[in-house]
Amino acid sequence: MINDFELLKKEILVCQKCQLSKGRTNVVFGEGPFDAKIMCIGEGPGRDEDLQGRPFVGRSGQLLDKILSVCGFSRTENVFIGNIVKCRPPQNRAPFPEERATCIPYLHKQIEMINPKIIILLGATALNGLIDPLLKITKVRGNWLEWNGHIVMPTFHPSALLRNPNLKKDAWEDFKKVVAKYRELVNPAHKSDYC
Ligand code: SF4
Repeated sequence: MINDFELLKKEILVCQKCQLSKGRTNVVFGEGPFDAKIMCIGEGPGRDEDLQGRPFVGRSGQLLDKILSVCGFSRTENVFIGNIVKCRPPQNRAPFPEERATCIPYLHKQIEMINPKIIILLGATALNGLIDPLLKITKVRGNWLEWNGHIVMPTFHPSALLRNPNLKKDAWEDFKKVVAKYRELVNPAHKSDYC
């Protein structure tokens, strides 16, 4: 299975299926253990991610790493971090529906192969891209959803928390639920500084 994952990575790294391939520096495949029990899914690469070929490495990524760390998680041990589209949209605009539709089968394959116990959707594009284009993140965040047999927690994108720190309280509540679910499904002895 790990070989299939490496083959998928090779395929994605040279993909030119949509117009986003034209402006990218690097394809951002995603990062984390192949057997991660948690997947975090964001929108798409920004400038820093495009330059480094890694997901969530700018200010938003630093905040995400901090949140994960306080919850006792990390991208090196138990979280795989990916995106709805794997190439940077110009000027960091949201990916167009046709770009999302072209790229999403890759994410579906990643989820199928990693088979995480918990999926965390970061922001509206991730929620709309994976679950339902009509759902509002402000309405459903903090509530468990289901996608193809996986349980899913939608919450705010870290960039929204940077723009509006008033949202942080709600986001922490969402991650508190993730920690509780992780203890229930994966490791009852999981340690977290937060809860
Ligand atoms: S965004 Fe996805 S579908 Fe489009 S070129 Fe990049 S990897 Fe391929």
